[in-house]
Amino acid sequence: MTGKTIKELSGLLREKKISARELAGAYSERIQKYNDSINAYITFDNDILMKEAEESDARRAQGAPLSEYDGIPIAVKDNICTRGMLTTCASGILRNFIPPYDATAYQKLKAKGFLTLGKTNMDEFAMGSTTENSFFGPVKNPHNQEKVPGGSSGGSAAAVSAGMAPVSLGSDTGGSIRQPAAFCGVVGIKPTYGRVSRYGLVAFASSLDQIGSFGRTVDDAAAVLGVISGHDSRDATSIDREIDFGGTIDSDGVKGLVVGVPDEYFRGLPDELTGAIKKKISDLESMGARIEPISLKYTDYAVPIYYLIATAEASSNLARYDGVRYGYRAGNIKRLGDLYTRTRQEGFGKEVKRRIILGTFALSSGYYDAYYTKALRGRTLIINDFKEAFRKVDVIITPTTVSTAFGIGEKVSDPLSMYMSDILTISANLAALPGISVPIGKDSSGLPMGLQIMGNHFQEKKILQAAGAIEKISEPITPDI
Ligand code: GLN
Repeated sequence: MTGKTIKELSGLLREKKISARELAGAYSERIQKYNDSINAYITFDNDILMKEAEESDARRAQGAPLSEYDGIPIAVKDNICTRGMLTTCASGILRNFIPPYDATAYQKLKAKGFLTLGKTNMDEFAMGSTTENSFFGPVKNPHNQEKVPGGSSGGSAAAVSAGMAPVSLGSDTGGSIRQPAAFCGVVGIKPTYGRVSRYGLVAFASSLDQIGSFGRTVDDAAAVLGVISGHDSRDATSIDREIDFGGTIDSDGVKGLVVGVPDEYFRGLPDELTGAIKKKISDLESMGARIEPISLKYTDYAVPIYYLIATAEASSNLARYDGVRYGYRAGNIKRLGDLYTRTRQEGFGKEVKRRIILGTFALSSGYYDAYYTKALRGRTLIINDFKEAFRKVDVIITPTTVSTAFGIGEKVSDPLSMYMSDILTISANLAALPGISVPIGKDSSGLPMGLQIMGNHFQEKKILQAAGAIEKISEPITPDI
């Protein structure tokens, strides 16, 4: 049962071939069996899950399901607020934080009858690319437990990959959905900035953060994204646009599609990965798409621009963790100043501290123009690069990552090399564009490879169609754990 898509599961529930309780039970068993090794969940509460499943069965028995998804379980990244359920952001500073309200995205899922499997592990405050920066220990890649699952939404990607959730929510500030999707061999989509409400998403870098979804198939990821999208009066940056995707994706739609391929995104990759991506692009061409070489000439600047803007915003957003209003508070305090410093010193992990310091520096008087303002100007150049490209093409296809999953511990002591590994995903966030990663098979060492498709603003439907076409011509990847 745990290998099925949510389309299939929703059919089984509708025909009463399975109950929500049986389904929840199957996932619960699987989580209890594998979570000790994979560490995908920070919080798993069987009682809550079973109670929600019973309520779902009762609604179906009365012929009144909340939607076709009533009874489908979903895992939620631990930076998305869930009322009454621990929401830690994988940080020591929020180790005891139980939100008094639901994030809009989660509340929309509940309104359709989705069941809560639990809260997934991540890099602390979503800062990282491996899920090694978690207060609760690293997540393992289900395809090879010596490897990282990617990050920061590593728990959400690993859960879907390992059959510990059929679908999940993640967040993507610089690639945190697409990169772990690629490393774990699942589909992950980050929508256009503004598509999904950020209300109740614990802020990292507010001008870049977006919630999105993971699934085993393009249809599944699209279905969840369709449910959580839409305007929310509680997030002024959310946008009221027609949601023209979410059902079954028509993947025959690549005829005439113009696909841009930027040279800059194929530098320094292993030949095997380049070859696999290029092969899919030429397959699309034989299916009727037109391939157009393009240039995204400011790509090399994306990493420094991102790491200035993201850290600047983070240093401001994280100022609220002062030991007074939220979460952890240091004990044995004699002076007010000590309360702040000791709480933050004991509560935050190393990477979070590094970013607060970097961001504070970039915003400080005397350096603001040299770093922060300059980064904002650079961001505009990147936006213009894409504007120009989308005058000629419908979608842009690239690899999602510069390599397949790296080893646990391999890059932790070298933050710069870790930051550099984000080069192919962060531009979409800087330019507010939607992007998706689709699995296209395994490399010779058995690790999944991901292909990224980026679209113009609000063109989720187009990237989903192209992703559906790629999916059709690629082998599904299931780990044998
Ligand atoms: N790896 C990037 C970072 O460390 C992106 C993280 C994210 O998208 N949340 O900031």
